Amino acid sequence: MPNTIVNYDGSIKMTPQQIVRPRTVEEIQDVLRDLARFPSPVRAMGSCHSLTPCAATDGTIIDMKGMNRVIDINETSKTFTAQAGLQIVEASDALRERDLQFMTNIEIGNMTLGSAACCHTKDALDGIEFGQVGSYVTRIKWVTPTGELAEASESSDPQLLRKFRTSYGLAGVVYEVTFRVKPLEAIHFTYLPRPVEELTHAEVDDLLRRPGVLDRRSDRGVPAAGAHRGAAPSQLAVRRRATAALESHRCSRRTLHRSVHCR
Ligand SMILES: Cc1cc2nc3c(=O)[nH]c(=O)nc-3n(C[C@H](O)[C@H](O)[C@H](O)COP(=O)(O)OP(=O)(O)OC[C@H]3O[C@@H](n4cnc5c(N)ncnc54)[C@H](O)[C@@H]3O)c2cc1C
Repeated sequence: MPNTIVNYDGSIKMTPQQIVRPRTVEEIQDVLRDLARFPSPVRAMGSCHSLTPCAATDGTIIDMKGMNRVIDINETSKTFTAQAGLQIVEASDALRERDLQFMTNIEIGNMTLGSAACCHTKDALDGIEFGQVGSYVTRIKWVTPTGELAEASESSDPQLLRKFRTSYGLAGVVYEVTFRVKPLEAIHFTYLPRPVEELTHAEVDDLLRRPGVLDRRSDRGVPAAGAHRGAAPSQLAVRRRATAALESHRCSRRTLHRSVHCR
């Protein structure tokens, strides 16, 4: 009976010969070392929510859902460490109990941290310094394609860390990730729904000048004009979103609000 895996919207379908769900890093090592039993290509899989075929294989799938433990929440250094199969929604719940949150605020609750660490997942809404989730990964531990253990961190090997953040699972299987986190903040969104057909560049410019329209408040009382949370987005970022809304009806036909939320 073949194992068929289908992604979120049915655009990617695969029939791997083997699907394994390890509970320890040693089990991942065993899979990568036993070529006869676990045929190549070997690919790690999180929630299979990605729309790219990077995880697709007719060889072996390593399903990371069995490794979903929170390892450490360090309130002093503001870091969060967990196994790679933990979903972002579960991780956020654990952080919330300590009044902490991730630096970015991603819409995909079931994304796994292993995927977040190496796949360019982005937050299109946040106005903070970096839009990519992986930019706030401070340490990654992985099993290499030959079954060895490896790791890179901001302090031990920042160059390698940067490369691994963009490896899309093609350089090894992530089993543990550390993220930089921040104090929990309330988010206040103010929307001004506008028909895209009627929106003009002049009006976008005007919106950028009006503090009451693009506004955010935080429960830590940081005063700001800008967008929705933490730090105000650059005017350039807001202008890019609004321009995208104006120039593309690909995602949304009705309002600036909806266009801003499209990917
Ligand atoms: C409705 C919808 C909305 C989305 N919104 C966004 C968005 O706003 N921003 C965005 O960037 N993306 C978005 N995505 C794409 C996708 O959800 C994310 O990029 C996310 O990273 C997928 O997480 P996952 O755990 O499902 O990974 P998977 O789909 O299971 O895997 C994705 C890739 O990561 C690799 N991988 C997974 N786990 C590991 C591991 N432990 N070690 C090594 N490699 C691993 C896989 O081999 C594969 O190449 C969206 C997708 C959908 C369907």
